[in-house]
Amino acid sequence: MILAVTMNPSVDISYHIQDFKLDDVNRVEQVRKTAGGKGLNVARVIKQMGASVIATGVLGGTLGDFIIKELTKSQIESNFLNIHQESRNCIAILHDGKQTEILESGPTLSLADGEAFLAKYRELLSDVTLVTISGSLPKGLGAKFYREMVEIGQEIAGVPVIVDTSGESLRQVLTHKVKPFAIKPNIQELSQLLGIEVEQSMSSLKQVLAAEMFQGIEWIVVSLGGDGAFVRKGGNFYRVTIPKIDVVNPVGSGDATVAGLAAALEQKQSVEDTLKTAMTTGMLNTMEAGTGYIDYSKFQTFFQLVQVEKLD
Ligand code: ATP
Repeated sequence: MILAVTMNPSVDISYHIQDFKLDDVNRVEQVRKTAGGKGLNVARVIKQMGASVIATGVLGGTLGDFIIKELTKSQIESNFLNIHQESRNCIAILHDGKQTEILESGPTLSLADGEAFLAKYRELLSDVTLVTISGSLPKGLGAKFYREMVEIGQEIAGVPVIVDTSGESLRQVLTHKVKPFAIKPNIQELSQLLGIEVEQSMSSLKQVLAAEMFQGIEWIVVSLGGDGAFVRKGGNFYRVTIPKIDVVNPVGSGDATVAGLAAALEQKQSVEDTLKTAMTTGMLNTMEAGTGYIDYSKFQTFFQLVQVEKLD
């Protein structure tokens, strides 16, 4: 069983508006509302792969209820901390081939909320074999919150933790003595973390991952969008290449990649198969209109087209 954490989930609303007008009334007929947040995308894809997952995090209010209902519809087990505040809406307006987003920051949590969540997290850890932590933290929880979750998971419960976040939370996780089992940064996240423009070349990535903060992390999967991934597993480096495919919507591919990685690690697949699985779920997500959604019946076809090369 994999535990997928989303600390600040949302109801994602997309409005299709042909001619979007500023400072005027826009009427919408095509509306889509889904349970959103990076960890929920991870949970959905794991479920679609046929693996066991439980979603957790913090939510509240009628929007929180909507999120739980959506998860139940997808037959995803959940156990969230309920708070007396509303979860957030995130709105995407699709107009003239463009996408304008309006993202609420969500509730501000108290220290007591943080403690209550950690108590729930500790309990859930006894039933799971792997944890994924995705996305940003809600306001009120310090940037060291994920670092604490990694320590509780790995040091206290002995459960490996995959972290997919960015900015200060990621820096705090990477500069702590207890390292996560796996991370999945993209080039922008690496650049932001190191304060330099990271180049996509293999030699540059090898050099970047030699930094002190990356030592002790078993799996580092640097995802490169349509170019696949560059990976450090233990002391070895791998270049993973993927076929050219018709992309419908790439949003959430990173989350689908984390889902594939988690499911493969839980199944103790070989290094090569683990990387092929993670790339395949990422690719399958780009082929669907929905975010954090894959058609698993296409898995084998694309899995066979991924190439993993061990570098010297
Ligand atoms: P997001 O933030 O949208 O979730 P990300 O930046 O974290 O994405 P990406 O590196 O864009 O993650 O994509 C993750 C994986 O998804 C890639 O390694 C690849 O397997 C697949 N993928 C993404 N974009 C494409 C594409 N254009 N063509 C084929 N595969 C893609």
